[in-house]
Amino acid sequence: MKKYLIIGNGIAGTTAAEEIRKNDTDGEITLLTKESLPLYSRIRLPDFLCGKIGEKDLIIKNQEWHDKHNIQLIRGVEVDKIDFDNKKVFSKKSAPIDKTKNSEKVDSDTQDNGIFEFDSLLFAVGSKSFIPSIKGNEFGGVFTLRTVDDAKSIIKRLQIDNAKDNIKTTPKTNNGKKIVIDNPKEVVVIGGGLLGLEAAAAMIHAGIKVTVVEFCDRLLPRQLDYEGAKLLKEFLENIGVIFRLKEATEEIVGKISERAEKLASVIKGLKLKPQVKGVKLKSGDIIKADAVLFSAGVRPDLSLMPDQSTTDLDIQFNACAMTNKSISVNKGVVVNERMETSIPSIYAAGDVAEYDGVNFCIWQEAQEQGRVAGSNMAGKEAAYKNVPPSNILKVAGISVASAGEIDVDGKMELELISTESIYKKIVKDKNGKIVGCIMVGDTSDFNKIVKQMRSEV
Ligand SMILES: Cc1cc2nc3c(=O)[nH]c(=O)nc-3n(C[C@H](O)[C@H](O)[C@H](O)COP(=O)(O)OP(=O)(O)OC[C@H]3O[C@@H](n4cnc5c(N)ncnc54)[C@H](O)[C@@H]3O)c2cc1C
Repeated sequence: MKKYLIIGNGIAGTTAAEEIRKNDTDGEITLLTKESLPLYSRIRLPDFLCGKIGEKDLIIKNQEWHDKHNIQLIRGVEVDKIDFDNKKVFSKKSAPIDKTKNSEKVDSDTQDNGIFEFDSLLFAVGSKSFIPSIKGNEFGGVFTLRTVDDAKSIIKRLQIDNAKDNIKTTPKTNNGKKIVIDNPKEVVVIGGGLLGLEAAAAMIHAGIKVTVVEFCDRLLPRQLDYEGAKLLKEFLENIGVIFRLKEATEEIVGKISERAEKLASVIKGLKLKPQVKGVKLKSGDIIKADAVLFSAGVRPDLSLMPDQSTTDLDIQFNACAMTNKSISVNKGVVVNERMETSIPSIYAAGDVAEYDGVNFCIWQEAQEQGRVAGSNMAGKEAAYKNVPPSNILKVAGISVASAGEIDVDGKMELELISTESIYKKIVKDKNGKIVGCIMVGDTSDFNKIVKQMRSEV
């Protein structure tokens, strides 16, 4: 019986497990995660953050699904070493698990030695939020939003009292207009990309005052051109988001609270951490803040890979035990079209993987790569093909979508609709083929356009 081991139960890892089971009814499939939940939607975390949905609503595949498909899901274990030669993975327990939730049948407690053996391994550990090296980035009240635990920490800090399981809340906006609240908590979001804007809109919904600081001169620079970004900005300003475009963050301003200082005077050795008070911009302006959310992009999580920055082999292999094989790593773990790494029987998929020099770190890509990896691991032949990235989302009820070439400078052939509330641009190459599009306010024909675009690739 073949032993399949998958590190990471995100969409890449879980889809791979499902695909393996389809093709191998007997094999032993084990999914490891350092988090406490079965597969959940990271995309919906902003809705969870503002209390629109509860934790249960985030879950995509529950424990029963894993039981039904005979997939062993082990939660709360953090892999800290991989021995590729001897085909073993070593782990330690991560956060304790609340066994009352999501029918925890299998968890870290059942593993006594934390060692897992495999015949075939999938590396699906996802990505990490990037935190720029700005002074004060370690202060209390500085956050990123990647996991359900990150969302819970933000909820706690901002005392978002409506973020309770399965309580549908009344938004603090009325028909898109902001309701004024006395002394609201204030948050600065650093980065005006997809995630930053979704989180900003969610916090506005929860009654927080939000300022978004963006280095670029427009929002969603990867997805929108100037016209599209202008319309989206107007929509978001209408619900109360404040923007500081073309601005860079100089430092995070913080202070140790009087209470903490008093405590430190009686408790010896207590380490004090300044708490966020504001954000100083390069222009000299200081924005008051109770918390800061970094939304400055993600990077593949290579913490289990050999340290690329050094030629010292002892240091290189400290992170990841290997003897005579080397795994090819660039921005991500390099894979071929079968999602196989440079070591046979070791696969990578999702945000952590890099295929053909690219890694978009998006859901659909991770899901398809997981499917291809799972199929090949189980002995079938499947090949991954890069597709132009496409995004469709709703920011504060506003539909925004973009795909492929967005032609920021307007140099290509275009079909354009631009009204007060809708902006649609279809980009074509010199042969009249659709190569990209932008839609703000109405995305009803987005899927049709993307299909046309892909069939023409
Ligand atoms: C707030 C938010 C909003 C998003 N919105 C969109 C969107 O609108 N559209 C879109 O396309 N994409 C969006 N994304 C990106 C999308 O969620 C990711 O591309 C996708 O989740 C990647 O899936 P993955 O399986 O590769 O990795 P992940 O989902 O990150 O899963 C990785 C798994 O590996 C586990 N793991 C990591 N290290 C270890 C270890 N050492 N030991 C054990 N387990 C480990 C983690 O616990 C986790 O379970 C969003 C992401 C976030 C955070």
